[in-house]
Amino acid sequence: MKYQIYTARNYRQIAQIDKISKEDQRTIDVVAHVLPFKTNNYVTDELIDWNNYKNDPIFILNFPQKGMLNPEHFNRIAMLVDSGADTNIIKEEANKIRHQLNPHPAGQAHNLPVLRGEKLTGAQHKYNETMLFFPSQGQTCHAYCTFCFRWPQFTGMDNLKFAMKEVDAIVDYLREHPEISDLLITGGDPMVMSANVLDTYISKILDADIPHLQNIRIGSKSLAFWPYRYLTDPDADDLLRVFEKVTASGRTLAFMAHFNHPTELSTPAVKDAVKRIRATGAQIRTQSPLLNHINASSMVWSEMWKKQVQMGMIPYYMFIARDTGAQEYFGVSLNRAWDIFRRAYTKVSGIARTVRGPSMSCTPGKVRVSGVTEINGEKVFALEFIQGRNSDWVNRPFFAKYDPNALWMDDLKPAFGKKEFFFEEELAEMLLD
Ligand SMILES: *Cc1c(COP(=O)(O)O)cnc(C)c1O
Ligand code: SF4
Repeated sequence: MKYQIYTARNYRQIAQIDKISKEDQRTIDVVAHVLPFKTNNYVTDELIDWNNYKNDPIFILNFPQKGMLNPEHFNRIAMLVDSGADTNIIKEEANKIRHQLNPHPAGQAHNLPVLRGEKLTGAQHKYNETMLFFPSQGQTCHAYCTFCFRWPQFTGMDNLKFAMKEVDAIVDYLREHPEISDLLITGGDPMVMSANVLDTYISKILDADIPHLQNIRIGSKSLAFWPYRYLTDPDADDLLRVFEKVTASGRTLAFMAHFNHPTELSTPAVKDAVKRIRATGAQIRTQSPLLNHINASSMVWSEMWKKQVQMGMIPYYMFIARDTGAQEYFGVSLNRAWDIFRRAYTKVSGIARTVRGPSMSCTPGKVRVSGVTEINGEKVFALEFIQGRNSDWVNRPFFAKYDPNALWMDDLKPAFGKKEFFFEEELAEMLLD
């Protein structure tokens, strides 16, 4: 299958364009000036149900939606577009709006590893055991998710773009940090890289033979957006050989697959691709944010987890949508997130209850909303760290005042009249370094 990209410039070439109303086409044109838009022929031809496109989760996942901008922002760009304004003027206005959308959430600039006094800009080391690596050639995706929190790096506005050409510094850093067991290669989507480039990175890492580096993870949405990466792309077989190199070295290759909806698990192409990846000895674990308009229903999640298990994959994370970009449109309250998680979790057998969530990736760590309960007459959220900047914080229950409208950690106040959560003082000290 030949890969055909569609963006704001050429999306009118899709075979199904007549199905999209003129008003919705204008919406796409307006919103795409501010937020990234990219899709491809697999998504349009095999995933989207065009007869019901307005409510189709995959359409909403890829095509810009009106509600993603607030009305004031939408109208400002719409007026410029309708009056045929100069592209530079539209760009300038779009940039102003982007800066109001919290482009760099969760203090990511604080996690830059330091090697011999120099910051490594293509990596993050936030949790003891796991280091993230952002190879510079892997900072795009086969299609863009409308909810994506990495949107600034796709709009060209991001001079903080976490990218690095050389893997040597990563190898040196890993050598100096025996606590790191996992290297997570992420993006964008590292699977947009050619097999050759990935092989260069992987071979260097394997050749370094670092004994404490046990697990190599690859975070990717390619199984959902372009499963032909593993079937018919010219270097598909070579790519699978690179995976085999990792497993043959005695290390675990964990493919962290992003799936947002069961439809993404339904095509013959994705089923074949999963089989081929598993045949290399890699394991596949799955994760997704919880998204209003796309998957905010317990039925969708239980179906997704069951199908994943059936296909030999391991459900891993349910995330709460981050406080950036179009959060107002995609956000789900913490209370509702817990309710959806709980109802889905109770519908699947233990074999699918490997999943953890709903979890917020915020400055102190990954915080799970364990539930809503009442203690001494006060209604509270019970919370716990799944991952913490200090690993000693993990798995200690703590409590926040119940707030039915809270969407994110910042909206929460400690319960029982306390001034601070137990980790806050220590976190403040850590952020000073
Ligand atoms: C989630 C995450 C990891 C991996 O955590 P695990 O619990 O080991 O899956 C590593 N780094 C960052 C910044 C993360 O958000
Ligand atoms: S695949 Fe991941 S990084 Fe790429 S657009 Fe979607 S959420 Fe963002």
